[in-house]
Amino acid sequence: MNKSFDICILGAGLAGVSLAYELSKGGLYVSVVDPNGVAGGASGTPVGLVNPATGRYATLGWRSKECYDAVLENLERVQEKAPVQFYKKSGVIRPALDEKIASKMKENFDSTQWPKGWCEWMDEESVTEFHPGIECTGGGVWLPIGLTVDIGTYLKSFSDQLQTDGTPFITGKEYKLRKNNDYWEVNLEDNTTIKAEKVVVCAGINSSQISYFKDIPLYPVKGQLAVFKTDAALPFEHAVSALGYIGSLSSDHFVAGSTYEHKFQHEDPDQEGLDYLRKRLGSVLPDLVNSATLLLQWSGVRASTPNRKPIMGEHPEQPGLYVFAGLGSKGLLYSAYLSGLMRSFIIKEDPVPKDLSIHRFN
Ligand SMILES: Cc1cc2nc3c(=O)[nH]c(=O)nc-3n(C[C@H](O)[C@H](O)[C@H](O)COP(=O)(O)OP(=O)(O)OC[C@H]3O[C@@H](n4cnc5c(N)ncnc54)[C@H](O)[C@@H]3O)c2cc1C
Repeated sequence: MNKSFDICILGAGLAGVSLAYELSKGGLYVSVVDPNGVAGGASGTPVGLVNPATGRYATLGWRSKECYDAVLENLERVQEKAPVQFYKKSGVIRPALDEKIASKMKENFDSTQWPKGWCEWMDEESVTEFHPGIECTGGGVWLPIGLTVDIGTYLKSFSDQLQTDGTPFITGKEYKLRKNNDYWEVNLEDNTTIKAEKVVVCAGINSSQISYFKDIPLYPVKGQLAVFKTDAALPFEHAVSALGYIGSLSSDHFVAGSTYEHKFQHEDPDQEGLDYLRKRLGSVLPDLVNSATLLLQWSGVRASTPNRKPIMGEHPEQPGLYVFAGLGSKGLLYSAYLSGLMRSFIIKEDPVPKDLSIHRFN
């Protein structure tokens, strides 16, 4: 059986699902193929943050305003029709844990033109008053616009809504990709053939396992999280970002993340990861770690690149074959805005930013 589409997307994580939305909105007939299922990779993260104050010193990230506005628009639209709440806008606090960090954070804060209402400086007393029990030295920043998101649930609702609107998701089936004259074929194991004029590889860390893209430099960085239950309701709603993060969408559970493992023997969660998370959590919120019971652990593998920027573009020798991967540790923040850029590139040939282009590796 043959089915024809304008575009077939390989991979249903943050990149693939957000791009499917953009392309179908642009009038194209799109299908998405994922052997593992929607959010089967790093995007299965139970809780992630949209936190534009990045790195150790809370630096305003790359095109943060555009990225934030785009992802919030998607979250709001998908949430409207979703059966469960998967995100909240309850802010992120970033306490400094020593004087040196506090002074660099303050320097950064003073020299940055933060969008209006995004970021406030708090001195040490204000931080500890705002969040009793938190460790803080020298102050920190408060981002009222910070978002806490159950990414896997968001993507499941997003893909369900796209399916309802006519974009098929074909999951749980292995496939082979091949070129057939002027179109691409995705041959599924059940003998269905998907024909598409264009194919976009959005397979996260596995993108470089697709032979056409074997040379793109994607580096695996494993991340582990732990979900904890508390005896009493959490006395705060916001997320905390210091030595990792904690975020919560319910009053008696929270998620603590994350490890950044550049070398690892296996992809599953382990005791070492849990010990690391507990230790770091204990350095920021000591009372919380003592009263929390472990519910479950989760792990995923991020795809990082040499300049820590995503990889977007068309294969230099295979017209109609594209890649959109390497979203690293900011895939949630980047997903909607970059999907819009990718759509303009595919449909209108608008160039992608040079520092994100696949051609930077030529
Ligand atoms: C622990 C952890 C915490 C994180 N926290 C945050 C956060 O707070 N904020 C933030 O912005 N980002 C966060 N991230 C990063 C974010 O999750 C990733 O950047 C993002 O999920 C990458 O999306 P992706 O679609 O590129 O890849 P993936 O999510 O990995 O999706 C790839 C998809 O492709 C599928 N696939 C695999 N092989 C194939 C194949 N051969 N063919 C077709 N499909 C295939 C997989 O099943 C998967 O569904 C976190 C990541 C981790 C691991």
